[in-house]
Amino acid sequence: AKELGRGMFCFFEEALNSRAQERRRMESDLRTALHEGQFELYFQPLFDLDANRVGSFEALLRWHHPERGMVSPVEFIPTAEDTGLIVEIGAWVLREACAQAAAWPEHVRIAVNVSSVQFRRPGLNETVLQALAASGLEPSRLELEITESIFLEGLDTTTRLLHGLRSLGVRIALDDFGTGYSSLSYLQSFPFDKIKIDRSFIQDLLTRPGAVAIVRAITDLARALGMETTAEGVEENDQLAELRKHGCSSVQGYLFSRPIDAVAVRDLLADEAAS
Ligand code: C2E
Ligand code: CA
Ligand code: CA
Ligand code: CA
Repeated sequence: AKELGRGMFCFFEEALNSRAQERRRMESDLRTALHEGQFELYFQPLFDLDANRVGSFEALLRWHHPERGMVSPVEFIPTAEDTGLIVEIGAWVLREACAQAAAWPEHVRIAVNVSSVQFRRPGLNETVLQALAASGLEPSRLELEITESIFLEGLDTTTRLLHGLRSLGVRIALDDFGTGYSSLSYLQSFPFDKIKIDRSFIQDLLTRPGAVAIVRAITDLARALGMETTAEGVEENDQLAELRKHGCSSVQGYLFSRPIDAVAVRDLLADEAAS
């Protein structure tokens, strides 16, 4: 049993070491990516159901790794957050997203994901201001998507930071609503411009008993609080029909479009303007 125990220990130790190595490698690869221009932004349209046109695009980060090909943000954002590199990467995303959006029609907004690590570090307001100034983008055309995890810092601190950001004139959306730490007190503590209903609710909308009731409750609540709603991950027409019934403000998902590159965005907007 003792032998076995030692063997197991070595096994775990090796697994930990290789994970630490993997992380160090990812960290240095991420630095290289940032300095050698391996990142690219893709954009996914949010379709406005009232105006019946694209109201905004969400910027989604893509990494063209020289050996590994396209690496998903789900794979590298956690390491970028652990190492703090997300601050620098996030600043690049903000600059690039604002620069792209400045060339779009004025009614089209850009939404940018802000990690809780970025949110907590001082300097975010300056980074946002710089991105706006450099691009000439109207602040009201920039929407920052934050998740409930920012509230782990405490309600008062978080609310103060949110008001500080909002005072720059940008919009604030609460992303992935309904997952994780969801609490209605967050909605009471800060007047978000928008709530994004997490894809998990939309996925099961027509199959899981109760899903419709939850989505209806969220859209009703949002409306009562003067907040817009976006349904994430809409893939089917039946889901769209159900969401329309509940007065969801906008929808995002593969049914309309996958995330596309900047050139395809301009084509899409040109087509829309022509029709
Ligand atoms: P998210 O913010 O919830 O972004 C939406 C994700 O859902 C995107 O995945 C998008 O491609 C995917 N999606 C959209 N419509 C559908 C659909 O109909 N079906 C399915 N199955 N998926 C759909 P993506 O681009 O892989 O990004 C994953 C996550 O990585 C994002 O989730 C966000 O948390 C993070 N992320 C992406 N870009 C950035 C960034 O610039 N900064 C930060 N901090 N995080 C980012
Ligand atoms: Ca998002
Ligand atoms: Ca989301
Ligand atoms: Ca997410």
